[in-house]
Amino acid sequence: MMPRQSFPYGDDRIEYEILFTPVMRRKVAIHVNPDGSVQVDAPEGEDLPAIHRAVLKRARWIKRHVDESRRQRAQALPRNYRSGESLFYLGRRYQLKVKSQNGHEPTVKLTRGQICVETPSRDPVLIRERLAAWYRSRAADMFERRLNEIAERVLWVGGVPDWRLVRMRKQWGSCSPEGAILLNPHLVKAPRICVDYVICHELCHLQEHNHSPRYYRLLGEVMPGWEAVKTRLDGMAELLLNE
Ligand SMILES: [Zn+2]
Repeated sequence: MMPRQSFPYGDDRIEYEILFTPVMRRKVAIHVNPDGSVQVDAPEGEDLPAIHRAVLKRARWIKRHVDESRRQRAQALPRNYRSGESLFYLGRRYQLKVKSQNGHEPTVKLTRGQICVETPSRDPVLIRERLAAWYRSRAADMFERRLNEIAERVLWVGGVPDWRLVRMRKQWGSCSPEGAILLNPHLVKAPRICVDYVICHELCHLQEHNHSPRYYRLLGEVMPGWEAVKTRLDGMAELLLNE
């Protein structure tokens, strides 16, 4: 890694790091990481002014992507569970509405455009737990339905396989060598097509316990076009895995 370089853009200054790659690469390649950092891959031996010129040519593109990452991160900051905050459910953004109620337990209702929590106390911990339980029960119903439907189309699975909900910080799902499937309840915040993709991904592992070319051939048969869905889900990970 080279020391950080930077360029001004409007009233912003954007830093980037250069990574020289010994492979036969002829051009400079620029990546904006999900955390908003910028990495520039350059052919070994390329001089710094040439790299800087290549970076400046893409300045607008870089700035747009850096802003987007920052915006997503800002939205992923810890919540306070107050009215007006955004919540996601099946790929749609809902507004949280917190209402007082005299009962003992908070209740959660999904209405048009809103997820409404009626609660005896505005304690954010209580609201968070109640919402997590609500997501979990929605996830349990929905994943079971989708597993049922997809497993029917997939010949090597005899009926719905064993599966469980497990909250994970970095993964949407997994499949053990023994064939036990785990699905992350946070996945119910993502669009339905993304849920299907994760389920297809794990069901294919029942047949191929690896990520070999054979595995990907199988996945392509079960879900043509899965790559675009994965890209979409990856782009939302930080937002949706934040509780
Ligand atoms: Zn996998």
